[in-house]
Amino acid sequence: MNDCIFCQIAAGTIPAAVVYTDDDFVAFLDIRPVSAGHLLLVPRLHAERLTDLPDAVLARELPLAARLARAILATTGATDFNLFNTNGAASGQEVFHHHLHVIPRMTGDGLKVTITPVAYGPGEAAELAGRIAARV
Ligand code: AMP
Ligand code: ZN
Repeated sequence: MNDCIFCQIAAGTIPAAVVYTDDDFVAFLDIRPVSAGHLLLVPRLHAERLTDLPDAVLARELPLAARLARAILATTGATDFNLFNTNGAASGQEVFHHHLHVIPRMTGDGLKVTITPVAYGPGEAAELAGRIAARV
C-alpha cells in the first residue's frame, strides 16, 4: 500500500534504522522508543492485524522475534524484554500494518505496563470459556 509507512520502510523508500531484513520481514528501531533497542518486526505483506496474516507468515514471525530479542539483549545489556502487539485502535494501534514490538527491559527501568483486572461473576468464566472454545 503506497500510503503505508511500514510498506514504505519495507520497500526502502523512506529511511529506518534497519537491523534485519529478508524476503518476508524487516525489523527496524522504533522511532519513538520506550527503551534503547526497542524495535519493530514487520512482515512485508501489508496486513492490518495479526489475524489478517497467513499462517505461513505467522509461523516465521515468532522465531524471528525470539532471534531479535536475543540480539537486542546481547547488544544493549538489557536482561528482559516485552513482546507487544496492537490490533485495532482500541488496543492502541497507530500504524495499521501489523507489527510486533520487541522492547528491552531492565529492573528499575521505570517502564510500567498498567493493567486493571476485571472480575468474573460466579460461573461466568466457565460459561465464557465454553463459548470461546466452541469457536476456536
Ligand atoms: P502501534 O501503536 O503498535 O501501532 O505502534 C506503532 C509504532 O510505530 C510506534 O511505536 C511508533 O513510534 C512507530 N513508528 C511510527 N512511524 C515510524 C517510523 N517512520 N519509523 C520507525 N518507527 C515508527
Ligand atoms: Zn503496509
